[in-house]
Amino acid sequence: MPDRYAVVGNPVAHSRSPAIHAAFARQTGEDIEYTRLLAPLDGFARTVAEFRDAGGKGVNVTLPFKGEAFRLATTLAARARLAEAANTLRFDPDGVYGDNTDGPGLVRDVTVNLGVALAGRRVLLIGAGGAASGVVPALLGAGVARLVIANRTEDRAAALARRHGAPVAACGFDALGDEPFDVLINATSAGLSGAAPPLPAGAVAPGALAYDMVYGPLAEPFLAAARRAGATRLADGLGMLVEQAAESFLVWRGIRPDTAPVLAGLRAAR
Ligand code: NAP
Repeated sequence: MPDRYAVVGNPVAHSRSPAIHAAFARQTGEDIEYTRLLAPLDGFARTVAEFRDAGGKGVNVTLPFKGEAFRLATTLAARARLAEAANTLRFDPDGVYGDNTDGPGLVRDVTVNLGVALAGRRVLLIGAGGAASGVVPALLGAGVARLVIANRTEDRAAALARRHGAPVAACGFDALGDEPFDVLINATSAGLSGAAPPLPAGAVAPGALAYDMVYGPLAEPFLAAARRAGATRLADGLGMLVEQAAESFLVWRGIRPDTAPVLAGLRAAR
């Protein structure tokens, strides 16, 4: 019997994580099965408990449950504690271990796969939900010079910025455009409904990278707005998805798969 894992979210049908983990399993020879689990919006803990009781070994957690996953874990990796959000749960005999691999996944995709340095850069992070919370510690760890969090609900951005202190600051969408950024990251779920947060030209520094955490056609509204605002480098979040998955695989299986062939395969299959 393969060890069973799943990605839990709502919605979750769009997730490509099962294909990625199947590729990792083939590459490493690990005997695992990985499926999607749609949890009711008020039934995350119940869905996870049922999967665990049925023999599941761990889950990835996607929107909107990363905060709940953080609270459900009985032990936490330092980066998940800092983020107050978890995207990876491992069911251990003595409890549930929670980790957050979104941050390392994003930083590795930007710096290694895309070759864009983050150290010393001015970064705009749009969104203040689970994904944004998850990547702040890793962006700070990568040495960004300034990190501004902009969110539709400004209070959420302010609360996230307060938790970290300088060089993190917060603003609402109406303040965007007053300050240029070298790297602009969309961590909102607006793309899932075909929308994009506002991105005025004044926010985009010459040569800037615009990065959307969603991938494929869902990233188009933001990336098109970024192109119009002057961004010359554009990337969707497929690389981050593969990199965070590799880091989760390491948490579960103790082995880090080679991401390059898996990412190339997914891009070719589009
Ligand atoms: P979440 O916790 O539900 O947070 C959603 C965020 O999006 C909030 O900041 C929310 O603002 C904002 N938002 C939603 N609709 C909006 C709209 N129409 N205009 C402007 N802002 C809007 O979700 P999450 O877990 O942070 O995930 C966010 C996105 O990142 C998802 O699409 C997810 O698929 C993606 N993601 C990708 C990866 C990857 O590996 N590539 C990893 C993690 C997440 P309010 O606070 O104002 O509601």
